[in-house]
Amino acid sequence: MDLALPGDEHPARVAVRSWLAAHPDPSPRQLAESGYVAPHWPRPWGLGADAVDQLVIDEELRRAGVRRPFNQIGIGWAGPTLIHAGTDAQQARYLLPLLAGEEVWCQLFSEPGAGSDLAGLSTRAERDGDEWVVRGQKVWTSFAHIAALGILLARTDADAPKHRGISYFICPMDAPGVSVRPILDMTGDHAFNEVFLDDVRLSTDHLVGAENEGWALAKVTLGNERVSLSGEGSLWGQGPTAADLVDLVRRSGGVRDLRLRQDLARVWSEGEVLRLIRLRTVSAAMSGRAPGPEASVRKALADEHGQRVMEMAVRLAGTRALLAGAGPTDPGVDDAFSWPEEVWAKGYLFSRALTIGGGTAEVQRNIVAERVLGLPHDPDVEQGRSWAETRSLPDGAAV
Ligand SMILES: Cc1cc2nc3c(=O)[nH]c(=O)nc-3n(C[C@H](O)[C@H](O)[C@H](O)COP(=O)(O)OP(=O)(O)OC[C@H]3O[C@@H](n4cnc5c(N)ncnc54)[C@H](O)[C@@H]3O)c2cc1C
Repeated sequence: MDLALPGDEHPARVAVRSWLAAHPDPSPRQLAESGYVAPHWPRPWGLGADAVDQLVIDEELRRAGVRRPFNQIGIGWAGPTLIHAGTDAQQARYLLPLLAGEEVWCQLFSEPGAGSDLAGLSTRAERDGDEWVVRGQKVWTSFAHIAALGILLARTDADAPKHRGISYFICPMDAPGVSVRPILDMTGDHAFNEVFLDDVRLSTDHLVGAENEGWALAKVTLGNERVSLSGEGSLWGQGPTAADLVDLVRRSGGVRDLRLRQDLARVWSEGEVLRLIRLRTVSAAMSGRAPGPEASVRKALADEHGQRVMEMAVRLAGTRALLAGAGPTDPGVDDAFSWPEEVWAKGYLFSRALTIGGGTAEVQRNIVAERVLGLPHDPDVEQGRSWAETRSLPDGAAV
């Protein structure tokens, strides 16, 4: 597995360095127009970059301290769906502000009665002349309170089999009839919301793809979501890794308690295995091979690993972990060990969400069982559909 990135002469490296020399402090709009926000997207939105060029560009931006605009859902999974199925007019209207983070996007998919079984959703969109009238309720909608736009699934044919009567819309969050109510999570943060849609009128140019064929697009969105949540940090690709925790412990003088040492070593080893699985996937992509089953396995393992990293941090900190920002005085750990930031305390609480959002741990296992191991499908009682199809990936895709 050769993962050495190309050196100074590589064209993508030369290009990004010279662009950064001309734009030492780029605005979000400049970054979006340069193609460096999502270099793997096709031109003119991205650069059509292959895996090597993407890694080189990431490395150069990181080195220059340039951060991409925040728009996790927009850039991560709404944008790729619009590239896949949006009209030219939709792409021209939405993609640049999305890449620049000028219009934050949210995802209006889950409902009180439809999470894992997403195709069971009951929000309705009825045709009225040139408009659709949308009625229903969404829940757990991250960023709805700051979003300008949402990707929305609604049922447009109540008589069709449940996967066939769904359409995919773009919903302006300031449209009359959209109301957003906050839900505070257990970290105390306000990240997700309930969204009520009361006779929201959407013109036909808000429909993405064909009427009643939204389920295929939902699978494109969900496939991209899982890839986006599979980065290196232990909180859906963000935040510290197990190796960061070990470094912190080392810098603080180490752990004396033998049991803690052993458990810390186990968590670190898990993190290394996940890192190597990820590198193997990247290496396969770099040599032009499609991602193998290890990518699906990794997502199923990584969420629970993230929880174990955070649990380990709290165990190391002892009872003082209950105080965000406090340093631990556990007898197993040197006193110098302290919380570097509230990331560990918040991360511990947030980590409970890892095995729920983006497809639950059980859903991941169903995908691995059916798509990777080829085990028999878990039948959906009503429709005879595979369970993994109810909230899962395009056929053959692996995350
Ligand atoms: C932090 C966070 C952010 C989120 N952001 C968004 C967002 O922006 N937009 C959005 O649309 N949604 C969002 N969600 C919602 C998320 O997609 C759902 O929570 C998830 O799909 C699970 O659905 P549910 O909560 O309805 O649980 P349910 O589907 O009711 O599941 C409950 C439990 O039953 C298990 N289960 C259900 N059916 C089966 C089965 N057939 N076999 C085995 N086990 C089963 C599940 O694994 C789970 O453990 C977010 C969730 C979280 C935690």
